[in-house]
Amino acid sequence: MADYDVIVIGAGNAALAASVSATENGAEKVLVLEAAPKKMRGGNTHWSGGVFRFAFVNARDLEPLLPGIEDQYPNFYDGVTPYPYEDFMGDLVRVTGGRTDPVLSDILVSNSRDTVMWMHAVGKIPMEPAIGLSGVNKDGVIQWQRGLVVRAEHEGVGLSTAWFATAESMGVEIRYESAATGLIQDSGGRVTGVTVQGAGASEDITAGAVVLACGGFEANAEMRLQYLGAPWDRAKVRGTPHNRGDGLRMAMDIGAEKAGQWDGCHSTPISADWGDYAPRELTDKSNRLSYLYGVLLNREGLRFLDEGMDVNFLTYAKYGRIILTQTQGMAFQFFDQKTVGLLEPRYSTSEPVVADTLDELIGKLEIDDKDEALKSLEAYNAAACDPGGFDPSQKDGLSTSGLDIEKTNWAIRLDDPPFHAYTVTGGITFTFGGLKIDADARVIGDGGKPIPGLYTCGEMVGGLFHDNYGAGSGLVSGATFGRIAGRSAAKFDG
Ligand SMILES: Cc1cc2nc3c(=O)[nH]c(=O)nc-3n(C[C@H](O)[C@H](O)[C@H](O)COP(=O)(O)OP(=O)(O)OC[C@H]3O[C@@H](n4cnc5c(N)ncnc54)[C@H](O)[C@@H]3O)c2cc1C
Repeated sequence: MADYDVIVIGAGNAALAASVSATENGAEKVLVLEAAPKKMRGGNTHWSGGVFRFAFVNARDLEPLLPGIEDQYPNFYDGVTPYPYEDFMGDLVRVTGGRTDPVLSDILVSNSRDTVMWMHAVGKIPMEPAIGLSGVNKDGVIQWQRGLVVRAEHEGVGLSTAWFATAESMGVEIRYESAATGLIQDSGGRVTGVTVQGAGASEDITAGAVVLACGGFEANAEMRLQYLGAPWDRAKVRGTPHNRGDGLRMAMDIGAEKAGQWDGCHSTPISADWGDYAPRELTDKSNRLSYLYGVLLNREGLRFLDEGMDVNFLTYAKYGRIILTQTQGMAFQFFDQKTVGLLEPRYSTSEPVVADTLDELIGKLEIDDKDEALKSLEAYNAAACDPGGFDPSQKDGLSTSGLDIEKTNWAIRLDDPPFHAYTVTGGITFTFGGLKIDADARVIGDGGKPIPGLYTCGEMVGGLFHDNYGAGSGLVSGATFGRIAGRSAAKFDG
């Protein structure tokens, strides 16, 4: 008789969804192993903005998640555009350059709405509109980026707190400071337990099935160098310091197959002022994602990407990487008075550098070639548009004309002082490479067969994301595959 029906390794969104699902599907004894001490529990999920991307056909499909929202925002549903399956799938295929796994992406997108409803109903996660993040006020109505309307109340902190409360109320046991170090197999290859390093000696705990949900390798500088290459070893980490690739290593040690883009990761423009790890209490407030309304220069004083290629939540995850590969991993965002009011509230966690002229502003920044920087901004201004038609709520087609790298939307001149600048770098969020799974979240081993008794979910799933990512997909993917993994593990009978 095993010690537990199901052991779940990790205690983030994917793990706790798996533990709740396993319990819901009949597992009586479920153990969650969390490497972190209780005060650091919850993984990247705690640090996250708690935003959920999901498909829906009618704006009013959101009503069960946001009861009474029109009392607070009378025109709320007027600003919500439907985001059907085809649009979510289209965005996922487009941002990943067609490389998203077709089976896994279909599971993610087709289950996305039901997953969020389940998180709300069974996971008891209160939700709210993602105000201040994806909504832009236009003529008194908040216009939402498509598919990105809802988040967990109190963002990632609220999401994590709610998941722990629900799992505990369902009888799931949670052990802190308990890092899994290896998987135990019987002679037939079935996974029968986990070796755990607690505060004292290491211990073997047996289980009917094991779910790996312990994140990627984003907090492990050696693995970053090995798989992502330089300069990723010196990237600042946006989330938990505990995701060190343990689960990936443990699974590969027993023959699990890798899948997805092992040399790719999610990385975003963040404030360069932050330390190597984001402070837990400031969660995701390091993000600097309003670049679409401004201009970005590197230390050579040159523009190096199209700031207005798309809405920020479809470009930010690749622009972090591009910034990190600039000299000293740095860049500078410039805004004027026409756009400073549009900066997302997270900018308030650092002080802008301010000046009355562009020349003076450049002089205050760590730009190596200041003459080139002024030339770049003047060339940009000469090629940019009148602000007439500027529409921050959607791609407005206001493009520069005649530059080597055009800014293809929101390209209005920087001419309304005082000017503001922010120094940014690329911070790593999570890694894209993971394990190969099937539609039941079973981990596939060498030879293409599932490893009996082993499941995975969350950041550990390989194949969904390549090069880029649409905001809000990580949590919905984690809960979708966590729910499947928990159900499969509960029903596994050898
Ligand atoms: C700053 C930030 C903002 C984000 N915002 C959003 C957002 O708004 N929307 C969105 O969809 N996504 C967002 N993401 C991404 C999202 O947070 C992740 O995709 C998601 O939380 C991953 O969930 P997970 O359960 O796979 O991993 P995590 O939540 O990271 O959980 C992994 C768990 O495994 C534990 N662990 C690690 N090693 C071991 C071990 N050996 N033994 C036991 N436990 C171990 C960790 O301590 C942790 O509890 C954000 C991420 C960050 C960092």
